[in-house]
Amino acid sequence: MCWRASRKIEPSGQAREFLFVVKTIHTVEWMKQAARQARAEGKLVGLVPTMGALHAGHLSLVRAAQAQCDPVVVSVFVNPKQFGPAEDFEKYPRPLEADRALLERENVACLFAPPPLEMYPNGFRTYVNVEGLSERLEGRSRPGHFRGVTTVVLKLLEITQPHLAYFGRKDAQQARIVRQMARDLNLDSEIVVCPIVREPDGLALSSRNVYLKPDERRAATVLSHALDRARQEIAAGERDAVRLAALVRKRIDAEPLATADYVEIVDAETFESVTRLRRACLAVLAVFVGSTRLIDNMLIEEAEGLGETFRCTL
Ligand code: AMP
Repeated sequence: MCWRASRKIEPSGQAREFLFVVKTIHTVEWMKQAARQARAEGKLVGLVPTMGALHAGHLSLVRAAQAQCDPVVVSVFVNPKQFGPAEDFEKYPRPLEADRALLERENVACLFAPPPLEMYPNGFRTYVNVEGLSERLEGRSRPGHFRGVTTVVLKLLEITQPHLAYFGRKDAQQARIVRQMARDLNLDSEIVVCPIVREPDGLALSSRNVYLKPDERRAATVLSHALDRARQEIAAGERDAVRLAALVRKRIDAEPLATADYVEIVDAETFESVTRLRRACLAVLAVFVGSTRLIDNMLIEEAEGLGETFRCTL
């Protein structure tokens, strides 16, 4: 299979660039065959799994993948198994043509966009679950969410057989759980975690930001501003994680349109709450702004060689 054709030889013998077209694949069988062939040709396959409605956050993963892999497969699949019954599965944005155009501009080789029945045919019964990690934080607020995530990610890894698969720290718990699954199940794919892309005012990019009304969009900056408040306190010497979490929550409570679901400082490996900052932690939060649920986090790492100094990355 030809993954990419960007030049055409005219009858005159002259080479002419022609518009790059992203290969769009809708069936599992075809995707498996294409991936097998790329591997057989000795190519380094990259996968960027998404639910579509692509934004600059997704594109940062695509670019990280393009820098290391060829071909890069971007999957666009709104996974019904990771939505609770009262969640936004039906209204989740699905602008597939716009997504395809964005991927074309990025020179992505392959868009994998299977319909739900292709991924979950009638009679589907098998799930994968990462115990413990999947029950905390997002898992506690959204029962069954991570079981749906790990099941679809394992299927996507099986179908596309990537050497590297790219995830965003925006969904830090998800990335940690996927990494655990890859380790526990001896998967061949390396899991790469990329930084959070934010709007200029600090709001982390998310496909769900389109739900925000103008006043909610303004209020939504409270997530990153609250985390930044914690960053300032840490820079001033605060090491008490309980006090830091309380400070973040207070900042969120001060925003009338925002309601905190959870605010915690957790160990970056176990996702258990900590009482004092240690080697690598995350300040994680989930906040309803109006009826839209947003998540964000800040990485807090001990700066090497500097004793008890911590570096915060929003
Ligand atoms: P989603 O389409 O929301 O399932 O996200 C697909 C991938 O993009 C996940 O690995 C996300 O963590 C990542 N992602 C989403 N938003 C951002 C962002 N603002 N910055 C970096 N990565 C992101």
